[in-house]
Amino acid sequence: MVTAKARAVDGPDKSFYETEIQRRDLDINDILIEIKISGICHSDIHTAHGEWGPVNYPLVPGHEIAGIVTEVGSNVSKYKVGDRVGVGCMVDSCGECKNCQKGEEQYCLKGNVPTYAGVDKYGEPTQGGYATHIVVTEDFVVRIPDNIELDAAAPLLCAGITTYSPLNHWGAGPGKKVAIVGMGGLGHMAVKIASAMGAEVTVLSQTLSKKEDGLEFGAKEYYATSDPETFSKLAGTFDLIINTVSAKIDMDAYFSLLTLDGTLVNVGAPAEPLAVNVFSLIGHRRSFAGSMIGGIRETQEMLDFCAEHNIAPKIEVISADRIDEAYERVLASDVKYRFVIDISTM
Ligand SMILES: [Zn+2]
Ligand SMILES: [Zn+2]
Repeated sequence: MVTAKARAVDGPDKSFYETEIQRRDLDINDILIEIKISGICHSDIHTAHGEWGPVNYPLVPGHEIAGIVTEVGSNVSKYKVGDRVGVGCMVDSCGECKNCQKGEEQYCLKGNVPTYAGVDKYGEPTQGGYATHIVVTEDFVVRIPDNIELDAAAPLLCAGITTYSPLNHWGAGPGKKVAIVGMGGLGHMAVKIASAMGAEVTVLSQTLSKKEDGLEFGAKEYYATSDPETFSKLAGTFDLIINTVSAKIDMDAYFSLLTLDGTLVNVGAPAEPLAVNVFSLIGHRRSFAGSMIGGIRETQEMLDFCAEHNIAPKIEVISADRIDEAYERVLASDVKYRFVIDISTM
């Protein structure tokens, strides 16, 4: 067993504290990773606060993990000691169902094993990346290209793939008009990736406060959704809308922005059901869809795409004793655009 230093939380209203956790002995297909950087995702906060259902505390969150391979099992073929690698939102799946067979492990029919707050095949609770080490089967590890720094790579493992996958699936590219709703951790990645894919990108954000950044990230237009004129002006415009907002919004207003056969994809996950007036879909054969992270093969493809196009998230590096403060700032939308924890401060 490897003892890892970690930061854990004991309950919905509790602060993070220093602790130690045990990582399993390496199985023949396992890799031991020394974690260098761990991103802070909004999902970590929802989970730590118990907002997505009951949690078995203590909880060590973190599913944007970047580090170095320090040991490999006897059967590992893809990675060797010293390799720069990443782990995202899942660490295992059944490998046999039709979705796993297609490389869409995130949609495993038996349920994928989430990186934290899950139960692995040994029956043990999974603990995430706010820790110095993690053991993962090699099939759920991705390679970080040489020209992406580890601190920039980490947020790609959740925010990057969560936005890359629907943009890729629904064909964002030259000649396509794509709108990104929300300019937070997910939204700013979506803007960068969609524009690198060649789409014409518009940001729809509550205010114009991040307009300069949005245009710098590659957006062509930037509109405030607090201005009702935005919706009349842009009616029927977009082939694809990626909604990164996890709060309840007026879906019909956003559907009205889609062109014939346009699709609105939710990657944000509001806890409450959303109201939909079906007339706003049937009028122009519009679709309302959802998408969740991406498979391992697609995650590697996304990293290689980001390396090729020099795409990196905009990050703020913090020490491990500032996680609580970072959570508060994320909830106050006071982050540009992703916190990552320097694990050497653990
Ligand atoms: Zn996440
Ligand atoms: Zn499966």
